[in-house]
Formats: sequence, structure tokens, C-alpha cells
Amino acid sequence: MYEKLGVRRVINGRGVYTDLGGSSLEPDVWAAATEANSAYASVPELIDAASARAAKLLHTDAARVVPGASAALVLTGAALLAGSDPKAIELLPSVTSGRRAIVIQARHRYKYDHLLPLSGAHLRVAGTAATSADELHSALKERDTVGQCFPAHLDGTVSTVPLETALELASQSGKATIVDAAFLCYPIGRMRELATSNAEYVIFSAKYFGGPNAGGIVFGSADAIAALTALDFTRFESSDYLRFGRAFKMDRAQVVATVAALENWLSMDHAARFASYAGRVGALGAALSQDKSIVISQKHFTMDEEVVEGAVNCLTIDTGSPDRAARIEAYLAKTDPALLVHIRGGTIVVDVENMGDDESHVAARLLSEAVGVS
Ligand SMILES: *Cc1c(COP(=O)(O)O)cnc(C)c1O
Repeated sequence: MYEKLGVRRVINGRGVYTDLGGSSLEPDVWAAATEANSAYASVPELIDAASARAAKLLHTDAARVVPGASAALVLTGAALLAGSDPKAIELLPSVTSGRRAIVIQARHRYKYDHLLPLSGAHLRVAGTAATSADELHSALKERDTVGQCFPAHLDGTVSTVPLETALELASQSGKATIVDAAFLCYPIGRMRELATSNAEYVIFSAKYFGGPNAGGIVFGSADAIAALTALDFTRFESSDYLRFGRAFKMDRAQVVATVAALENWLSMDHAARFASYAGRVGALGAALSQDKSIVISQKHFTMDEEVVEGAVNCLTIDTGSPDRAARIEAYLAKTDPALLVHIRGGTIVVDVENMGDDESHVAARLLSEAVGVS
């Protein structure tokens, strides 16, 4: 079909990116999706059951399968505004109660907070350059505040209030917390800890645990998840009020694949996963080892997109100059298949997490070609 459409294949040397389609489903996850595709089921019943299964897997009170973490931010924001009140849900994104502020700390502003106002919420930024616990507390205590959004990957940023304190301040103020933990699904212990924190909502994106690009799971308390369920796309046709979340819908295959991927992720041998990355990185490096014009190393490319020492998942190629690196990157972007990589100054970074073993042989050839002519 790619050929028919005239779409070039891409060898993914970047990692998990929505624009590259997220992840590839493992064979057993794909098989589960195929099974769901071939047999009808009641989607509300299926999502309820899949969500209950997700909650059980992470030992949380409740959970809800959703079409991605961005959708989850909109839906959980909406749930804070409307609770489980059908009248209020139908009016969204209008809010008649006047309570529509969601607090975020100044240094926690991030790309995805752009999604929250789609629910009808207003962002209230606590602090200016820095946020103190007092500033956060008073923002949370404002009468029109419904809760806060806490991007968990930014926990520990200087001049911010840490998650544990922020959760405590919110509960003291009777306000809810939405934690965006989208990519914090590894190590598994960290995922479990976040999922069972006492935030009302903890969001993970399935793209990071081998699920569909448009899958996600929200974990939380039973009440909070009930409010989310009351306004998601399910039962739009069959209930007696219109559901705000109708546009954020999923098909059976996505629902099943999201939970199958979670199950797979939790039982996976992650040491073997990293060993396979190291193998691929080693093979790429071997193909380039004769070239004296570059310096290669094996590194770890973090979810925050930094190159550090650690469990190997990427090859870095120091090309000697930013210009040369840019030429190599541009060359690789034009080949067929294209090889998409990261660039950091004069260094090319090739993340192999989403590269097949066969693809890594093609990638090795393309890299050595590109380095040779640049
Ligand atoms: C990818 C990402 C999202 C959005 O997730 P989707 O499932 O792609 O909608 C939200 N927050 C963070 C931190 C992310 O990395």
C-alpha cells in the first residue's frame, strides 16, 4: 500500500514519535487486534472490561482506556469541570459553574498543556519564573480552581514544587490532580509507583509501551474514573445525554491492542530488550568502524531526548562539525528508504529502539554511504 500511495518507507532512527507512527505492535498484540477486528462486541462493554483489566494489572482502583494521552488530557480536564453531572457534561466546553481553572506551575509549562483548554478549562499559571509551595497552594485554593496538571517528567525541575508536595497541597485544598506520566512507563517500578499515587488521574500514552499510536490509559480513583467514563465517547448513541468525548473515539482493535500491549510490557524481559538494542548498535558501529573521519560511541538516548551514558539504545557519530552532521542527516532523509536520525551539534544520533534487525543492516549501509560522501 505504501508503494501504491507513493509513500517512502522510513527506517526509524529516532525512537517513539507520533509523526513516525509511535511504535510497532508486537506479534501477539497485533494478533489480539486482528481478533478484535474480526468479531464485533459491544464497545462500551469492551472498554469497561479492558479498563478493569488495566487497573488490575497495575493494582489501581480503576482505569480507563482512551485514545492517547492528549485525548486523556482533554477528557480528564473535562471531567474536572463537569464531574458526573449529565447537564454539565452536555454543556462542555461551556462551564456555567464558573469553576474552570486548572493550575500548572510556571516551569511545568509544556507542549501538551495546550490540550487542556480544549475541555473548556483555563490554565492558571502558579508563580512566574519559579513556583513556591505557597504560591501553588494559593492558586489551588482559589474558588474557581478545579485542580492542577502535573507533567511528571518535569518533576524535580528547579524552582518547582515536587509531585509529592503538590499532591498533598491539592488534597488539602480539596482539588484534583491530573498527572501526565505519558512516557514514564519504564522502569516498571516507576510506572507502578506513579499509577498508584493518590492523584485522581495518572495518564500514560500507549505509544511508549508498544501499544497503538492512538492509545492510552488513565489510572485513578474509582470516583474520578467514573466521571471520566461518564463523558467519554461510549454510549453517545444510547444514553440520554450527549457525551462531550464523542470525538475521541476508538475502534475495537485499538482498545484490545492497548491493553494487550500493557500486559506484554509488564511481563516483558526488559533486559533482553536492551540487549537487542545493544546488538543493533554494535552492528551499526561495526559498519562504520573503518572510517577515521568520525568518532562513534554507544550511548543512551533518554525520553527527554538527551544523550547520556547508560543502557545502550543509540549510536552516536561525532562527525567533527555541525555542517557535516547536517549534510549527513539531509542525505539520509532523501534516501529510499529514508533513515531518520537525530542531530546534536556535530553529532548524529541513531536510536535503534524502533528499528528492526533487518532494517539495521540497511541503516548500516546507508550510514556508511552518507558518511563517505559527506
Ligand atoms: C506523547 C506525549 C503525550 C501525548 O500522547 P499521545 O498518546 O500521543 O496523545 C502527552 N504527554 C507527553 C509527555 C508525551 O510525551
